[in-house]
Amino acid sequence: MKSVLWQLADLLFASRCALCGTTDHAASVVGSAYCLDCMHLLAPAPVNRCQKCAAEIGPYAKSDKGCVHCRKRKLKFETVVCLGMYAGPLRKSLLSAKWSFSAVQMRSLAALLSSARFHELTDRPFDRIVPIPQHWRQRLVRNFNPASVIAHELAARLKVVCDVHSLRRIFRTRPQKRVSVTQRFANQSGALAVTHPPAVQGQRILIVDDVLTTGATCSEAARVLRAAGARACSVAVLARVLDHSA
Ligand SMILES: [Zn+2]
Ligand SMILES: [Zn+2]
Repeated sequence: MKSVLWQLADLLFASRCALCGTTDHAASVVGSAYCLDCMHLLAPAPVNRCQKCAAEIGPYAKSDKGCVHCRKRKLKFETVVCLGMYAGPLRKSLLSAKWSFSAVQMRSLAALLSSARFHELTDRPFDRIVPIPQHWRQRLVRNFNPASVIAHELAARLKVVCDVHSLRRIFRTRPQKRVSVTQRFANQSGALAVTHPPAVQGQRILIVDDVLTTGATCSEAARVLRAAGARACSVAVLARVLDHSA
């Protein structure tokens, strides 16, 4: 539960676009933290992306076997849907939403993802949406999990069950940023577990996180869900972060 102060801050700033700061009511969009112009900036027209990891690739590049960014990684999910690459306005608004712990901003970005990428998200039917969980000690410090906020919004809009209970984080991993790219997969190994396997058996699952970088976390989630009997796992994130050191 967010503190009353944070909820109040959300309300106070809701009338001002969280990205450009405009208070022009003609440009505002009901229920969104962003004005109409910024919504266009945050959700550009779809471009050719890798079918596997959603990295932006050349307009004519083929990616049925992955791309230069993901080919060497054994990613356990089928595909990734995202709003765009982690750059420009999308990066700015994601950082703002994350560090101001703003559920309104995070929900607005998720709403954009569901409307701008609706066809990709409904191309494959899903039975449940599962956010990447935080460790209980992280939850104790601050009860704000961007993945969970995004998952709830997507679930409501796509009319799919939001399942925040099936996946559990067993141990706290070192922050991925402080771990080399090659170590990130080892760092995540065994970090997640399925709490109640019968709930995911035969299910087509959409795993949700805020961003996807190496794919290590979402791949580990897909691995344990598949091992517990899930039929298929894909991923939805707000942004795809390219890690050039990979
Ligand atoms: Zn704006
Ligand atoms: Zn790829």
